[in-house]
Amino acid sequence: MKLKDKILVAFFIMIAMPITMICVAASTIINLQMNSIHETYDVDSDTREVLTTPIQILNRLTRGVYNEIKLAALKTPEKLEDFNYIESLNRDIQNKYSFITVRKNDQFIYSGNTRKLSLISNSLPSFGVYDTDVDGGIYVGGKNPFLVKAQDFFFSDGSEGTIFVITDLNVLVPQIKAVAIQTVISFLLILFFTASILMLWIYRSILRPLNILRIATNQIRKGDLNYSVQFASDDEIGQLCDDFEKMRIRLKELIEDRLKYEEDMKELISNISHDLKTPLTAIKGYAEGLTDGVADTPDKQEKYLKTICAKANDISALVDELAFYAKIDCNTMPYSFSHINLHNYFSDCMEELKLDLEVKNIEVTFQNDVDPSVLVVMDAEQLKRVINNIVGNAVKYLDKKQGRIEIRIVDRDEFVHVSISDNGAGIASQDIPFIFNRFYRADASRNSKKGGSGLGLAISKKVIEDHSGQIWAESELGKGTTITFSLRKVGNGSEPYSSKGELENE
Ligand code: ADP
Repeated sequence: MKLKDKILVAFFIMIAMPITMICVAASTIINLQMNSIHETYDVDSDTREVLTTPIQILNRLTRGVYNEIKLAALKTPEKLEDFNYIESLNRDIQNKYSFITVRKNDQFIYSGNTRKLSLISNSLPSFGVYDTDVDGGIYVGGKNPFLVKAQDFFFSDGSEGTIFVITDLNVLVPQIKAVAIQTVISFLLILFFTASILMLWIYRSILRPLNILRIATNQIRKGDLNYSVQFASDDEIGQLCDDFEKMRIRLKELIEDRLKYEEDMKELISNISHDLKTPLTAIKGYAEGLTDGVADTPDKQEKYLKTICAKANDISALVDELAFYAKIDCNTMPYSFSHINLHNYFSDCMEELKLDLEVKNIEVTFQNDVDPSVLVVMDAEQLKRVINNIVGNAVKYLDKKQGRIEIRIVDRDEFVHVSISDNGAGIASQDIPFIFNRFYRADASRNSKKGGSGLGLAISKKVIEDHSGQIWAESELGKGTTITFSLRKVGNGSEPYSSKGELENE
């Protein structure tokens, strides 16, 4: 559920849940207390009455005794002069917050509660002017409210008498008090309960993931990029955790790349210094031989000078290759792509290669299995560099008297595959996966005197990849090697473009 929906739901729960629960609780409390009122005072009352006019209930407490007095005044008034009888009636209502008082003329001759009587004795109605207003009672008192029921009668000596049934309204029936207190307590408990549930819910949906994120952020700040955030939820916070996790993975990759780059740079510098040092040491040695007079004949001196020249050329070639590699590695190589007919391109290539290789007793063959009209997108000059590298290796690592190099072009759907095979020394299977790495030279060639920088195939790989193609090797020690690369045919999408963003047509 989305966070905004959760907040909406929480809002409704906050309102609806306490209201419903309080209604249920209040009605249960009221029903229980109604039963209690009925059992304690033998009074029937309904819920509405309890909540609206609790005085009615107090009024009913004395209804029985009052009716008995009315009956006595009508039929046996002499009974009302009997204090024992009055006393027994008073006892009946004593525990119902009420008492009885008897007035003869203006004198109170009996009172069930003298203290309370003194509070209202002046407010009691005179003989003959009693008019009921609340279910047979009147309300008197003001500051000390009482409910008064009165019955006039004549004493046997002819004096005017009034008997009062007085109920103290200052007290609330304990059950009504209990309803109020229990309702307030349940209201507070329900509010607490609802708030706790919502708090828990909000904690689980917001605070817990935020806490997880905070811990993860701290871990990452300390450099622990393996600390992953695991929090599955489909809301906004869940998405935030997801994004955070993706950010962590990306950051980790970037840092690993950076470390690898630094490692590669160290290796690069050590390889360059090693590869430069070897010819430089030779140059130094031969130059010292010349100056020290070790080369004491013109023949020797010429040989020394030629060696110095050859080593200087090696350094120059290495520096050129390094400069070129640096250029393509930084993607600053300005390619000039165009649509080239492969058949024509390789036919021209073959002319050049044949001239060069026949002198070295190497037979070159070319087989084209692709439609002669097929065009590929390529930078002719850079592709020439790739072919020269591969053919150059074939020549360099040839160990047979009669060398053979075979160039073959085959059609593979959107691509054309170009394979250059030789019958040379071959590459050990454990070396094959690494020969396209920069400065990698298989042990055999490293120990031989073939020279080479270990950059040729790394450069070829980068050039082919910049053409949206791939390059790979198959080889068997002692039998020969085949290097194959793919070039995308024209009109198959994802064509490489020059750094100017334009494709130059042939
Ligand atoms: P190098 O300048 O050493 O030739 P390359 O990057 O061109 O560097 O080749 C990397 C390594 O792959 C070489 O050192 C060599 O061991 C091996 N290799 C490449 N081509 C061939 C081949 N045709 N025959 C045998 N080994 C080869």
